[in-house]
Amino acid sequence: MESSLKDLTAVVTGASRGIGRILATSLAREGVAIVAVASSEDTLRPTVEGVKSLGGRIHPIDCDFSITHDVEDLSNRILNVVSGVDILINNAGVALNRPIVETETDQWLKCFAVNAVAPILLTRDLIPSLERSDRATIINIGSVVAEKGYVGQAAYGASKHALLGFTKVLAQEVQEKGIRVHSINPGAIATEMIREARPDLNLGDLIQPDELVDFIIYLLKHRGSMVMDDLRIRRATGDPWY
Ligand code: NAP
Repeated sequence: MESSLKDLTAVVTGASRGIGRILATSLAREGVAIVAVASSEDTLRPTVEGVKSLGGRIHPIDCDFSITHDVEDLSNRILNVVSGVDILINNAGVALNRPIVETETDQWLKCFAVNAVAPILLTRDLIPSLERSDRATIINIGSVVAEKGYVGQAAYGASKHALLGFTKVLAQEVQEKGIRVHSINPGAIATEMIREARPDLNLGDLIQPDELVDFIIYLLKHRGSMVMDDLRIRRATGDPWY
């Protein structure tokens, strides 16, 4: 059965562009108050303006996920602007397309910090607030690289494997607190990330970000007694993994 999302509060990380921007705007259209997180308030401005133009409520928060100390403070900053959190979408991410031997130490660390450590710490710190909601949901945006190995994507893939491993345990540990957990692992989606990481792919041939967003909103609106553990999203035609 479908239920309204009106008056819930969602934290959307990576809300400045791509999937996160469309998701923040679409959730706001459903009446959800948004806490939009990205590394700078400047990059969040188009999202903030888009949500405000719809009459929605949005609180931008800048936090660089590659700085662990700042991530440790993020939940406090979030709970200073909203009274509680119902939905956490861990969406921020960085991709890297580089052979292992050419990947610098700081590139390995950045991939792990942004794609794994930051969502893990933010989730840990928001669980006490989420468990007070009767609609609590955490969605971790992983990737097809969380399950498969692609040449040239060791840092990106290993960090997404780490996030998936965390999510599998999380789902069980918070089940009794009434928190739903989903990991969504899509193939290539037509955003800036894929334009930069895979210039060989034609964006028009790929999953469009609003298709994934529609699917996320469907999940959030339908909280019956059934739960889906593994969601692999790929194109309906062509290469089965892209
Ligand atoms: P995108 O357009 O590149 O957007 C990435 C978002 O992450 C931006 O809002 C960016 O914000 C934020 N971000 C990056 N580095 C950050 C940092 N250091 N601190 C805080 N925020 C940071 O990417 P997308 O395609 O929408 O991807 C969204 C998620 O989907 C990612 O987790 C990605 O791995 C996953 N995914 C994407 C694809 C794809 O093909 N596009 C496929 C599978 C999974 P700022 O740069 O403004 O800080």
